[in-house]
Amino acid sequence: MVRPWSVNKETGEKIPGLIELTEIPVPELGQDEALVEIAGCGVCHTDLGYFYQGVPTVNKPPLTLGHEISGRVVAGPNHLVGKEVIVPAVMPCGECEICKMGRENRCLKQKMPGNSLGIYGGFSSHIPVPARDLCIIENRGDMPLEHLAVVADAVTTPYQAAKRGELKEGDRVVIIGTGGGIGVYMTQMAKAFGAAFVVGIDIDEVKLERALKFGADAVINAKQKDIKTIRDEFKSICKENGLPHNFGWKIFECSGTKPGQELGLSLLSFVGRMVVVGFTMAKVEYQISRLMAFDAEMIGTWGCPPRHYPAVLELVLEGKIQIEPFIEMRPMSKIGDAFEEAHSGRLMRRIVLVPDF
Ligand SMILES: [Zn+2]
Ligand SMILES: [Zn+2]
Repeated sequence: MVRPWSVNKETGEKIPGLIELTEIPVPELGQDEALVEIAGCGVCHTDLGYFYQGVPTVNKPPLTLGHEISGRVVAGPNHLVGKEVIVPAVMPCGECEICKMGRENRCLKQKMPGNSLGIYGGFSSHIPVPARDLCIIENRGDMPLEHLAVVADAVTTPYQAAKRGELKEGDRVVIIGTGGGIGVYMTQMAKAFGAAFVVGIDIDEVKLERALKFGADAVINAKQKDIKTIRDEFKSICKENGLPHNFGWKIFECSGTKPGQELGLSLLSFVGRMVVVGFTMAKVEYQISRLMAFDAEMIGTWGCPPRHYPAVLELVLEGKIQIEPFIEMRPMSKIGDAFEEAHSGRLMRRIVLVPDF
């Protein structure tokens, strides 16, 4: 990314962003670094935020975007060379107080490819990364290596969200944005963690149909409906299934939209918990005292600690979390088109870009 989209403050004119193919030298590797030859890198909502919506990157452009990477180690520590790996989307420092608290996914010194790892990112042929946190893929069967790129973020983030939300056997769960890039895995993850009943909410009928095959027990199409109508549908689903509608629901907001967050807050009720998984710059108004009256909680979740990656990879390789129906491969040289399509929100599957240069 040479420059993101922006708006001229005086004229209000939109200035298009620019992505360019360029060559940068391979840096000298530090002792604890590895060079990964990239097999695939997923296009994430976060990349689109950086490019289209003015979400700032830690390292200023020009830089290479992309943080959902699988590949093969071609240089670095001996025990890693030749290994296939997943590069965690956020790599903690491992030394600070936050890391020592066991909250290392939110380490303030963390490195994220395509954001805070210098100019390096996943939309590239190679990337130098810290070696310590790489997740080694020992036996992927017939799963293509590039497909596993989505484990680096889209699948691990819901895993950590489930951990943060203390999702457990028998839970009642609502997933807002159930058909989206994170939501499809959050929905499956809820079931993998033993949820008894999962309600998926989205605005795309086809994606909702699909959600019913991958984790959702019931779905609600929220398109062009006001909150009251959606709540009424939710209540009737609860009634039909002999479930209470007003207590004990865990709500995972994965849409990263203002209406999604507003809906989540309106469904949050007695001894409930809302986990904020998606990101938006929008602000939402809420009577915070309701949390007190409901004895409810609202928590945020960010990324996933690298130590959990092997467990997530296992869920995928065992087939408990399906990734194949939700991804499609494209040549990396077509990144401009891929971004445009992903930005339009019409895609049924997440794009994984495969280096073709
Ligand atoms: Zn991401
Ligand atoms: Zn740290």
